[in-house]
Amino acid sequence: MDDSLNFDTLAVRSGTVRTDFNEHSEALFLTSSFCFTSAAEAAERFKHSEDYYTYSRFTNPTVTMFQDRLAALEGGEACIATASGMSAILSIVMAAMQAGDHMVSSRSLFGSTLGMFSQIFTRFGITTTFVDPNDLDAWRNAVRPETKLFFVETPSNPLTELADIEAIGKIAKAAGALFVVDNSFCSPAVQQPLKLGADVVMHSATKLIDGQGRVLGGALVGSRQLIMEKVFPFVRSAGPTLSAFNAWVLLKGLETLSLRAERQSANALEVARWLERHPSVKRVFYPGLESHPQYALAQRQQRSGGAVVAFEVVGDTPEAQRENAWRVIDGTQLCSITANLGDTRTTITHPSTTTHSRITPEARAEAGITEGLLRLALGLEHAGDICNDLARGLEGR
Ligand SMILES: *Cc1c(COP(=O)(O)O)cnc(C)c1O
Repeated sequence: MDDSLNFDTLAVRSGTVRTDFNEHSEALFLTSSFCFTSAAEAAERFKHSEDYYTYSRFTNPTVTMFQDRLAALEGGEACIATASGMSAILSIVMAAMQAGDHMVSSRSLFGSTLGMFSQIFTRFGITTTFVDPNDLDAWRNAVRPETKLFFVETPSNPLTELADIEAIGKIAKAAGALFVVDNSFCSPAVQQPLKLGADVVMHSATKLIDGQGRVLGGALVGSRQLIMEKVFPFVRSAGPTLSAFNAWVLLKGLETLSLRAERQSANALEVARWLERHPSVKRVFYPGLESHPQYALAQRQQRSGGAVVAFEVVGDTPEAQRENAWRVIDGTQLCSITANLGDTRTTITHPSTTTHSRITPEARAEAGITEGLLRLALGLEHAGDICNDLARGLEGR
């Protein structure tokens, strides 16, 4: 499809392939394999399995439609979809690295990503140096001759700290390392890392791309050469493939992504501003607020602040802070007490006792995850209703 079309048009039109029935909505191909008219045709199609449909672990038309649409939205040449965000990370590491190789990664990572890098890949001889995402010298100094990959997630979870994609990309390039950006927190509607110098965009499509809390999915977007010659052979053989059903759900998710992201960001900004004025709130972390230390970078790098707001409630001691934070959670009647994000329904979590409870108290303190910190991932409810929902706990009503 014409690459000069705007994002909103690509989101509903790109990637669509119609069958002879001329269906308007994309067809869902729930089939594990595809038939051939002769032995010779089967032989030919298996030989060129990237160009033909043979078996759904390799390729499936519904999955291809999702891949092509997401590639168009990220501005990449090719995409491979996977069963989850974690299997996308597994796939890029398996495709691009081997035993003895090294990677440099931001230390502000999704918990399971941190676990894979520090406990699973190490068993196969792939090591990682973790750095402060904002210390550019640390990225430079961590590079070794065997460094093959840079990995970053921005904004960070839960404190919404940003990493400068363009600046880190230049260091990766000088080091000859592949630069992977986990774009799950923003989605292409808010941030397009490939345009800022990333080589690969990785997604947990489970988050904003589905956006309705229904299915798991993941994806990798990058150059045709990397995706088709390195990632595709791994996914095709190892099988962390996205199911056709989930691809269809995610394809439909992409159609409304930009509208949802825009409204969720607007809601997040409104709630963040309200929280900033509230006497029971000590601090608010949101990239769309002028008070965010990296507001200028956020304006440059992101189209909006995104859906996630973190805030710290007051309290004289850590115990009092935790009590106040829990009171906010327990006082809600609308917000869902769950760790998903990017959903149409607002979610609230207490990171220090849930998502970040397994790291040591010292590491938590260093990361700024206090007992009073709450993470809110805004949905599509009216922002005023969410403020009222939070006010109950904040005001001890
Ligand atoms: C959820 C998430 C993942 C993991 O994705 P799954 O789809 O749960 O496997 C990775 N990175 C980030 C930033 C996430 O939020």
